[in-house]
Amino acid sequence: MVCKITCIPGDGIGPEIVTQAKKVLDRVASVYGHEMNYTDILMGGASIDVHGVPLTQEAIDTAKAADAVLMGAIGGNTSTSPWYKLPPEKRPEAGLLKIRKELNLFANLRPALLYPELAGACPLKEEISAKGFDMLIMRELTGGLYFGERKTITENGKKKAIDTLTYSEDEIRRIAIKGFDIARKRRKKVTSVDKANVLDSSRLWRSVVEEVAKDYPDVTLEHMLVDNCAMQLVRDPSQFDVILTENMFGDILSDEASMVTGSIGMLSSASLNDTKFGLYEPSHGSAPDIAGQDIANPIATVLSAAMMLRFTFDLDREADAIEQAVKEVLRAGYRTGDIWSEGTEKVGCTRMGDLICEAIK
Ligand code: NAD
Repeated sequence: MVCKITCIPGDGIGPEIVTQAKKVLDRVASVYGHEMNYTDILMGGASIDVHGVPLTQEAIDTAKAADAVLMGAIGGNTSTSPWYKLPPEKRPEAGLLKIRKELNLFANLRPALLYPELAGACPLKEEISAKGFDMLIMRELTGGLYFGERKTITENGKKKAIDTLTYSEDEIRRIAIKGFDIARKRRKKVTSVDKANVLDSSRLWRSVVEEVAKDYPDVTLEHMLVDNCAMQLVRDPSQFDVILTENMFGDILSDEASMVTGSIGMLSSASLNDTKFGLYEPSHGSAPDIAGQDIANPIATVLSAAMMLRFTFDLDREADAIEQAVKEVLRAGYRTGDIWSEGTEKVGCTRMGDLICEAIK
């Protein structure tokens, strides 16, 4: 297969980690007989420095012409970088918001996986972390409270702020379908999270999810209230496979799930639209404090590339090979600085990329 990929190295550690991810993709391609065809575009600070704007129309068109986008991270030190003296619409992050909108990315996926080798970084009690966990949060990204009508008015001399939470059945249906499709590639369980005991939007959410579930008799569906889910994530995260939820609940729960893994440099993510197209990126930022030193952890980006193979290209075997290689390298005791602990061997970003490549056979 020929995989047409637009790459956004971005700022800070972005170029270093994307280089490693490409190296790993090339390795998989040579082992399994595929061709990786990359085109780089500028976004964020790197684009501001060259074009004066965080994302050009030409870059957007290049991204749209590809099958998928693989991104590092964008942004600089928000206190010292001259990029943050610009008006908000010209700052690095505006590029990211624009590309998400242009590509119609409505589904955000964030896996939270505890590697047994990194269990020491998990802030939960050992009796809980010992069971391990491997879940994926599927968050609706373009509707709900963050996109509803909002205003602040004055009533009887007192200010009053109003935010509106709306969801249409079509918006719910398309994200639910994504959630069930992805559960089918995993352990076939969906936990739909809502607040149906209070909110109308949640009651509609629940009924549409139930309708969609009828087309997936092989996938188990359960409903959970968001407050209970927040508790269950720290009480017994091993119970979850795919958590399907709306925008604001997903925003909060996905950060909670990330925290319980304890390792920011390991967390991948994907944003998808209603085709096979996706934008794949690590969950962390551009880490300007460690940029250019070859010490960043490239694993989150490498695992994002594995998600790209699985979800855009349906290359499950190749994605498995990358994930297995990462596990093998960790098992062999190699760590970048952020996940290093006594008794393991510290390696840099490039070496970690090389080790993962060597483990793909
Ligand atoms: P950050 O995630 O970049 O860094 C937080 C801490 O984690 C830092 O100490 C950093 O060194 C460390 N870290 C992050 N990724 C690492 C990795 N792969 N290996 C080793 N250590 C790693 O968050 P921040 O410092 O709040 O933000 C820095 C910049 O990144 C800001 O400009 C912010 O706006 C931007 N940002 C971009 C994205 C994105 O591109 N999607 C996301 C979040 C933040």
